[in-house]
Amino acid sequence: MRVSEGRVTVTVPEQPEAGKGADVFFNPVQELNRDITVAALRAYRERTPRVSTYLDATAASGIRGVRAAANDWETTLCDIDDDATALCEQNLERNDLAASVRRSDANVLMHSEAFDVVDVDPFGTPIPFADAAIQGTKHLLCVTATDTAPLCGAHFESGVRSYGAVPRNTEFHAEMGMRVLLSAMVRTAARYDIAARPILSHATKHYARTYLAFDHGAKVANDCIDELGYVHHCQHCLWRDHDYGLIADPPEECPVCEKHLQTAGPIWLGRTCDPDFTDAVAGQITEEMGTADEATELLATLGAEIDTPTHYDQHRLCKRWGRGAEAMDAFIEKLRDAGYAASRTHYGGTTFKTDADVVAIREATAE
Ligand code: SAM
Repeated sequence: MRVSEGRVTVTVPEQPEAGKGADVFFNPVQELNRDITVAALRAYRERTPRVSTYLDATAASGIRGVRAAANDWETTLCDIDDDATALCEQNLERNDLAASVRRSDANVLMHSEAFDVVDVDPFGTPIPFADAAIQGTKHLLCVTATDTAPLCGAHFESGVRSYGAVPRNTEFHAEMGMRVLLSAMVRTAARYDIAARPILSHATKHYARTYLAFDHGAKVANDCIDELGYVHHCQHCLWRDHDYGLIADPPEECPVCEKHLQTAGPIWLGRTCDPDFTDAVAGQITEEMGTADEATELLATLGAEIDTPTHYDQHRLCKRWGRGAEAMDAFIEKLRDAGYAASRTHYGGTTFKTDADVVAIREATAE
């Protein structure tokens, strides 16, 4: 079947249910991810004009790399599968574009060659590619993870094994997953004296996606490690707090309801997006993109999210409090009127971030 995205048209095999068993994988739902990738590549090149090379490390049909090539990146498409690389060649030719196609294990390629920008979009966890990708990236590493159950603690042991952190299945699960992923990437980069700092991250549908800008040196890598820490969370009243450092120091019990607290970490507690870069990416969303409206809305929400490591869901809080929910704008305005910072989040229509704790939120938003 033919698929048009952005400036290109590619051929992809008909996909059996959820893409499983197809000769070459293609997921139309990831168009938003790919549109934002193209916009991020454009914004990143404006910010860092010397960058020119892009590796689509797990290319499948090549749609992502073909789109990068159509945006004048000196592109390499890599896949371990013969059918995939043959399709990459065809899709480049169909669009009259030149790029290098490699049938290789991406880990072998990334260990032997470095690219300005590397994109790892594998099945499930990106961790098997993390070490090589960090060594094969000069400036920007783009990573997708689709193993949301291990990341957010729903598959606890698997999350611990893959990410070397304790994930907890909280009501802010998508953000938990994002911060567990970021923690693992930051710690892996730090092993090579590299600071990997997220400049754009979003958790959308069944995946987490992040763009990590690299800075080299032991000191900056240490600064990144300093932004790791723990979140302590009460499943009963939904109170939570966080502390920085690699040794967890949880309160003995929830200070509000005195129930048991769960601790997750080490997770990334720092910013998940650079608001200036996020605005620049929004400025690079163009009308030929199929998800332009959705991407623009997502990036606007991301850019306005306040910088706290967890978020709340108004509906869940109100249910606990035995109270009816209200319109989000009015709810957020009440928090601001009471002197707190507050914003919506991209994690869901009824979610918000604030610097108020759960007791203050309840008081500030009472009738
Ligand atoms: N990036 C693609 C897109 O946007 O449509 C989707 C990639 S698909 C989820 C994952 C691809 O990774 C598959 O085509 C698979 O053959 C490839 N792959 C799996 N292990 C690999 C490895 N070690 N090296 C290179 N490619 C690999």
